[in-house]
Amino acid sequence: THSHLTDDCIFCRIIRGEIPSFKLIETDKSYSFMDIDPLSPGHALVIPKYHAEFFHQVPDEYLADALPVAKKIAAASNLDQYNVLQNNGKMANQAVPHVHFHIIPKPNEEQGLG
Ligand code: 5GP
Ligand code: ZN
Repeated sequence: THSHLTDDCIFCRIIRGEIPSFKLIETDKSYSFMDIDPLSPGHALVIPKYHAEFFHQVPDEYLADALPVAKKIAAASNLDQYNVLQNNGKMANQAVPHVHFHIIPKPNEEQGLG
């Protein structure tokens, strides 16, 4: 069931499959997918299957699921350097009001992507 999701949130709708996404890893408590407007190639997002705007509102069991997923994505992507980022509130650059962790690769210059 998806009892912790809302009807009108874009990320809740991605979890429900109503909006297409490039899925990476799905568990019972989290969903991860590629960012539609990547800051660098490989930019991924991990979201709890729990609608909350702020980090501190997410129940522990959902956070405890999401972080190891972020770790798996970083490890599986063979990333050298990267940011794990999570914004809370408009003043902190949060655009989508459903908690999400960014995994943002920092390609080195030798790869020609920096
Ligand atoms: P924020 O600024 O809220 O921390 O980050 C929101 C992120 O969600 C942005 O990087 C943006 O590109 C991404 N995003 C917004 N809408 C969609 C969407 O419909 N699909 C996907 N895959 N990413 C989205
Ligand atoms: Zn939501």
